[in-house]
Order: sequence, then structure tokens, then C-alpha cells
Amino acid sequence: MSTGDPVSAKGRVTLIGAGPGDPGLITVRGLRALSEADVVVYDRLAAPELLSHARSDAELVDVGKSAARHTMPQEEITALLVDLGSSGKSVARLKGGDPFLFGRGGEEVEALAAAGVPFEVVPGVTAASGASAYCGMPLTVRGVSSSVTLVTGHEDPTKGRSDVDWQALARTGGTLVIYMGMGRLEQNVAALMDGGLGADTPAAIVRRATTSEQEVVASTLGGIVAAARERKIAPPALFIVGNVVGAEGPGALARPTGSPAPIGAGRFAWFEALPLFGRRIVVTRSRAQASKLVRALRDLGANVLELPTIEIAPPEDAAPLDEALRELASYDYVIFTSTNAVDRVRARLSELGLDARGFAGARVAAIGEATAAKLVEIGLRADVVAAKFTAEGLLDALSAEDMVGKRVLLPRAREAREVLPEGLRARGATVDVVEAYRTVRPDVTGGAARRALDAIADPAAAAGKVALLTFASSSTVKNLADILGPDGLEKARAIPAAAIGPVTAKTARELGFTVVAEPEVHTIPALVEAVRGYFAGA
Ligand code: SAH
Repeated sequence: MSTGDPVSAKGRVTLIGAGPGDPGLITVRGLRALSEADVVVYDRLAAPELLSHARSDAELVDVGKSAARHTMPQEEITALLVDLGSSGKSVARLKGGDPFLFGRGGEEVEALAAAGVPFEVVPGVTAASGASAYCGMPLTVRGVSSSVTLVTGHEDPTKGRSDVDWQALARTGGTLVIYMGMGRLEQNVAALMDGGLGADTPAAIVRRATTSEQEVVASTLGGIVAAARERKIAPPALFIVGNVVGAEGPGALARPTGSPAPIGAGRFAWFEALPLFGRRIVVTRSRAQASKLVRALRDLGANVLELPTIEIAPPEDAAPLDEALRELASYDYVIFTSTNAVDRVRARLSELGLDARGFAGARVAAIGEATAAKLVEIGLRADVVAAKFTAEGLLDALSAEDMVGKRVLLPRAREAREVLPEGLRARGATVDVVEAYRTVRPDVTGGAARRALDAIADPAAAAGKVALLTFASSSTVKNLADILGPDGLEKARAIPAAAIGPVTAKTARELGFTVVAEPEVHTIPALVEAVRGYFAGA
């Protein structure tokens, strides 16, 4: 929203380099522009995960294009940017890699400038830098290569003659990084050899660099065409030529004569060595809650697909919770069974003009460390925390306390197990169960969720097999089953599942899933450890 800010009140287009694939490689400035924009116009090469940083009310426009199928011709994209910018909107134009390297960003700013639309350009990590870092392959190395040339391998086919002087490139003696070079790989290799590069010059192809689908084909100029064909390498990929590739592949640095021989291929390939590298893992948590799990799995190299199967929504009627919160002083106990309950109570308290002092007379209990930690954020230290993160665990933790005649407030989800209130009532307490939130099924018909769903329900059509489903609550399991329908569920059952705790695991088993990872403690870090353990043994 352009809330009166004199700068953003005027239309502006920001070209943002989204980086080569890993969503973590966008710049701080780029992320800020993205998260403030009214409209996000994005490319196929930009990481889809980045879109989750757009404002929830931002308009998202996919102008993505692949070499084979242009969704929108460049002229139309440029015209669209001019239109949007002129209409007073703040537009984030997200482009793969760096906007000014082979991205036609130049044409976009030219048109914006001509139309008088204010613009900014935020640089990005270009594919060459991404591939270099994530292969552990410096593009320059003292004594090996002292220059890098970035060049397009796919020129405008309407041009009569070549602007690229391959003969001259062959003579630089430095590193060559060829973008868009898969379509004309054979011709370009021949041209470089014509120019004098030996057939034994180290060469590599790096596909989908910095993503967990990264693939590296290492060979020589003489062997690369056959090697690429054998591995069926398709764009987007970089073709890298020169001694930095190393005679034995990326990361095995070639040394000037006389120095020790390289130890082996991929010596510095830290990225592909990550424990979950290349594993496709589906996270079914709500978008708002998934980030910690998603980040932890990605940090371990996993290819995480986000499929939110639940969304936390306010109760249809907030009155019962409000009433309970106004009468907080009349309760002896307030029990929080999830961080969502804490969030909702915090929100309602603040809405009602109340604060944590309302809890002064009550004992506060929590299920789970995360819930207890969330309570600390609102200034409450839980008196009782269940060691086992279940309703039964909390009943155990309260077993020493006399509950006879005690008034207990239990703000929680509409749908929840009855174990806790029934257990407390059996011990003589009066329990007010109040709906603090509902879990609803989000729309999964578009974007990243749709892709994740396709990968589960139709593994043959998807780009790769899903190696693991993760469930952080019973409702995620049930909702996934509902979303998939009987046929999809049948297919999904073939995918191993990880569950955060015994209740979730039980639900998953009942629905026919095979639970292969189940942590002792029901926390996200423990779940991540269990997943790592599963793959280490797999
Ligand atoms: N502006 C982009 C380049 C766009 S041209 C940048 O700065 O990186 C598209 C070409 O970039 C692709 O054909 C491919 O050669 C290269 N490319 C983009 N992302 C890549 C990736 N993750 N891995 C390998 N090559 C990539």
C-alpha cells in the first residue's frame, strides 16, 4: 500500500536481480523492494519461493519464459512494466540472476526511461557467480586464470553475422562462461577449437546451479558434447571452459606445471556434499509456520516443496474468547497447547486493550518448548511445561497439583482432541474450552503448492521424485488426504513420511502412510535431525 509515503506514492519499477536459483541469494535491498511492491512481475528463472515475500495483497504476474515457449514476448513485458509504472503502482520486476546480464534489463529500463517512469535497478548474483560458488570452483585462480569472459552462446537468430568472436575468446587464456549455450553447444565447441583451444581443455556444464537440482558434467572441450548428451542436460545451464574447471572436474583446481596435482574431482564441492542435497521433501505446514522447518531443511541442501495444507484463521465468533479474556482473573489455570493459541490470545488481548497483567492470578501451563518460548515473548513464563509434548504429557506434568474446584481456561483450535479437558474434569476441575482459532484448508490450486501437489500425486509427470513428506500435526495429514482425494492419496502413500510426534504419526499410519522418521522430542529441530538421520541411513 502506498500509505502516504511521498516516494512510493508515485509509480516506480524496480528491476531486482533474484539470483540464480537459491532464494537465499537475493540481496537485502532486492528483498525489501520485493516485499513492499504492489505488483510483482516475475521470470521463470527467479526462485518461486521468493514470491512468498511479496505482500499478501500484491498482484503477481508470471511473464516467465523458456527457450521453447515464450509466455509473453519481451516487447509485451516491457510495455506491461511501463503501463504498471505509469499507473502509479510500485512494481517489483524480479529477474533471474543479474538484471543487466543477458536478461534484457537494458531494454526494460530504456523503455521506462523513455516513458518517464521512475526506476531502480538492484543487482543480483549472476549464474556464473552462483555456479562458481556452489561448485567450489573459483573463476579466477592466481597462476591458472586471470580473466573471466561472460558470453552468450545463443545469439539472436535474426542476426546475420556473429558478434561473438570465438577465435578471440579461444585466445584469452582465461575462463569462459557461456550462458544460454546448450542449444548451440556443438557449434560453439567447434568454434573454440578452431580458434586454437585444445581438445583437452577442461570444460564443464553446470545445470540449475545453486538449487538442489544442481547437476555438474565435467569433461574436456573434446568430450563435453557427448557427455552432455549422455546426461541429457537441458537448459538452464552454463558452459564453463578453462583450467579453473580442473582436469578432473570443478573444484579440482588445475595447478601451474610443477605444483602438486589436483586431488580429485569436486574437491571443494561443499554444496553437493550437504547431507540432504538433492532430496525432494514436501513440507505441509501452514505457510506462516513452515519457515523454520523449510529453512532448516534447505540449509541441509534439501529441495523443499511447500504445500501448505492448513492455514490458521481467526474463530468465526471471537466473542467467547474475548469474554474469557476479560475475565482472566477468575481462572486458576490458563493452558496453552500451541503457539497458535498464544498468537491468537495475544492478538485478542491487544484488541481488547488488555495485557499480560490479566494472567497475574493464574498458573500458566504449556505443551511444548515452542509454546513456552512464545509465552515468554508476551511476558509470561509458564509455571508448568509438559516434558512430553502431548495432552497426556501435560496431564502428567499437572499430576502433582490439586485440580479440585479449579477453573481452567483452555484457548485452542476448534477441532482438537478431548484428552486434556476430559482428563482435567476427571480430576475435579471446571474447564472452559474456548475456540481461539480454526485451521482451514488453504487454496492450493496455483503456484508452488500446485507444483508440490503434482509432484506427489503424479510422480511420473513431475520433474523428480518426492523422497519424503513431513507432517507437523494431525490436521496436516488429514487435510493432505482430503486435498489429494482417493487416487492421489493412493500414490502419496508410496512416499515415506516423517511425523513430528506420536499423535501425528498415528494419524499418518491410519491413513496408510509409512512413517520413517519420528523424533523423540516433538520440536522442529528434532524433526529435522530425524529426517537427516533417515537419509543418512537410507
Ligand atoms: N540474468 C541471468 C541470465 C539470464 S540468461 C543471470 O545473470 O544469471 C539465461 C541463462 O542463464 C540460461 O540459459 C543459463 O545459461 C544461465 N542460467 C541462469 N540460471 C542458471 C542456473 N541456476 N544454473 C545454470 N545456468 C543458469
